[in-house]
Amino acid sequence: MTAFPTLDEARALDAADPLRDRRADFTLPEGVIYLDGNSLGALPRRTAGAVADLVTRQWGEHLIASWNMHGWIDAPARLGARIATLVGAASHEVIVADSTSANIFKLAVAACRARPGRRTILSEPGNFPTDLYVASGVAATVGVELRIAAPEALVDAIDDDTAVVLLTHVHYKSGHRHDMAAITVAAQARGALTLWDLSHSAGAVAVDLNGSNADLAVGCGYKYLNGGPGAPAFLFVAERHHGLLESPLSGWMGHAAPFAFDDAYAPAPGIRRFLCGTPPIVAMAALEAGIACFDDVAMADLEAKSAALCDLFIAGVESRCAGHGFTLITPRDAGRRGSHVSVAHDQAFPICQALIAHGVVGDFRAPDVLRMGFTPLYTRFEDVWRAVEILGDVMERRAWDDPQFRVRGAVT
Ligand SMILES: *Cc1c(COP(=O)(O)O)cnc(C)c1O
Repeated sequence: MTAFPTLDEARALDAADPLRDRRADFTLPEGVIYLDGNSLGALPRRTAGAVADLVTRQWGEHLIASWNMHGWIDAPARLGARIATLVGAASHEVIVADSTSANIFKLAVAACRARPGRRTILSEPGNFPTDLYVASGVAATVGVELRIAAPEALVDAIDDDTAVVLLTHVHYKSGHRHDMAAITVAAQARGALTLWDLSHSAGAVAVDLNGSNADLAVGCGYKYLNGGPGAPAFLFVAERHHGLLESPLSGWMGHAAPFAFDDAYAPAPGIRRFLCGTPPIVAMAALEAGIACFDDVAMADLEAKSAALCDLFIAGVESRCAGHGFTLITPRDAGRRGSHVSVAHDQAFPICQALIAHGVVGDFRAPDVLRMGFTPLYTRFEDVWRAVEILGDVMERRAWDDPQFRVRGAVT
């Protein structure tokens, strides 16, 4: 166990942090320690201006000419190329479109159809709900079965009947990070495709899609990419599959020549065939502002800071909060986790609410998990130090044991 530092030592870590100036790119409310950027990224300072410009000048003054004049039509590919640099992909292999859920559907159907005769989609129990729900919808759509195998049994469960292995790279609850390269090798050795959900990885840890020879991936725009609530998502298709995989949502924006207005569908040759309808341009402007926060950020710095922030929190829970019934469920090895740390506690819900009332915003994940997200661009070591102090205080005083902290809202 790493020793928990003093406040001055935590501040010294901030002073030495190569990413320390990036926090100024975000608007963060006074008096709040925000440890939920893995659920909804904080608001970048440049976003309001970028969206206002898009609405008032581009839309307001230039109207429909903006599709060409302001590059609206190119936004899905332009933003995709930017995200590609964060996930180890080539610029023409990533595009921004739809939601993560819809992108899972498009790519999983495409993958199953590219592996005809194979009868299963393989995933893991406790995967993010939408991944499992969409996978079962895909299974019904293409006439295959969804098979679930525990993480330790996954590789052995891949067989000649597996069309696609659908996994979340960093688990949303436990924070466990799969070995993308090893699982991809195992899947491909059996002739299966891999589809990685990067929602809790992109912008949080270094991801190397091409270095891992991944086939397909999707990811979320509103978590570590700071795109705002409900931001468009992204998808990745390795170049070797371009022209072979087809989207089941064959909308006009994925057509080879959308403005030829042909009756017959002919998919675009490259990644653009995975677009469906007209891109949400206002939301795209916010996402572009969110991704711009990564300009000049080295992924190695991001990954190193993420690891150090998580280590600090773990050390704090295990020293300052020892004896209060927390069980660490996130791997200790930084290479095997993402950028959040989860602890189980039978009173996790009221503890989480009490923390929020004391200015520490993390989140609760049913049934008993308290999850703290550490966003390397704007979380400071001092924030983690203070969060641990407040958690220790809430536990010592049993401040969580109050009826007001047991009331559950629609979103938890
Ligand atoms: C957040 C998240 C999603 C979100 O999907 P939406 O379609 O944007 O609601 C999907 N998968 C995982 C693993 C997530 O963490």
